[in-house]
Amino acid sequence: MLVDKFGRVIDYLRISVTQLCNFKCRYCMPEDGEFNNIGRSNILSYEEMFDFVKICLDNGVKKIRLTGGEPLVRRDIEKFVKMINDYKPDLDLAMTTNGYYLKQKAKVLRESGLKRLNISLDTLDEKKANFIARKDVLNQVLDGINEAVKEGFGIKLNSVVLKGINDNEIIDLLEFARSKNAQIRYIEFMENTHASSDLKGLRKDDILDILSKKYSIKEITKSPNSPSSLFETSDGYKFGIIDPHKHDFCASCNRLRLSADGLLIPCLYYEDGKSIKEAMRSGDYDKAKQILKDVLEAKPEKNKWENDGKGEISSRAFYQTGG
Ligand code: SAM
Ligand code: SF4
Repeated sequence: MLVDKFGRVIDYLRISVTQLCNFKCRYCMPEDGEFNNIGRSNILSYEEMFDFVKICLDNGVKKIRLTGGEPLVRRDIEKFVKMINDYKPDLDLAMTTNGYYLKQKAKVLRESGLKRLNISLDTLDEKKANFIARKDVLNQVLDGINEAVKEGFGIKLNSVVLKGINDNEIIDLLEFARSKNAQIRYIEFMENTHASSDLKGLRKDDILDILSKKYSIKEITKSPNSPSSLFETSDGYKFGIIDPHKHDFCASCNRLRLSADGLLIPCLYYEDGKSIKEAMRSGDYDKAKQILKDVLEAKPEKNKWENDGKGEISSRAFYQTGG
């Protein structure tokens, strides 16, 4: 079992399989995304990642999420899914995706053992989707969601709520998610140095105020390690809000993150990490285990995200660590 020095059991690994993405969402990366190419030779192969995954699974990790960048732009991602699933078929194996390639990939991902999908959907309006992602994406994403529903995935829809952009769609997005039997999770925009500087996010209370105009809502108990607060409408629909500006989820954090180039990162909002790349490439698994221990030891009690509006904002890019 992996336990950090604050007694938190770490049983969740998030793997960013690539930094590359076919979108350039304004809240995630600048228009000029060239710097995000870390070079093919620096990316861990699926075999290298899988050898590390096995170490983690053998030490008590029970949940793995594949993310990015956009995980579906990495070639043959389903092979990696299958490698992990074959090793531990009862694993909670999930993916976060922008949904663009799901129409083609949902079936093969399901067959390979992927169980759950978080799909990003900020708007139901074509022009706004184009504005946010800097690309004409909506119809393909909606087709992807339909395909994922058809394949029987457990689905959550993630919406970053932005003032003056999609804040008039909060109710429509909930209705849409409900019609797909999916849970919607509104995400507060997290300021970071890679996002467009003119964006402003809505906070949890603003989102609840808007929803309360149509629904009667109560907060319900969330699962212990989830970063989102959970709510229920009076007719039984459950939805979440991820509110990092107020909510302190560090006390129950159970995660480590692995970047595509092998950096093992103890915390989303913490600059330090340690690379497992050389250890995996040389087959030195004792060294990899030691790095895992070191990173666990370095996991901070609280994140270093500047979330009170003063001082420096985070320079950690979401497309590197997977959000
Ligand atoms: N490309 C995939 C996608 O968009 O779902 C996976 C990676 S993306 C970095 C993971 C999640 O982070 C997405 O749901 C996205 O909306 C969210 N995200 C990215 N930048 C964010 C920001 N500045 N504030 C809040 N959420 C953000
Ligand atoms: Fe790509 Fe996801 Fe970032 Fe959008 S949020 S640019 S889809 S990595």
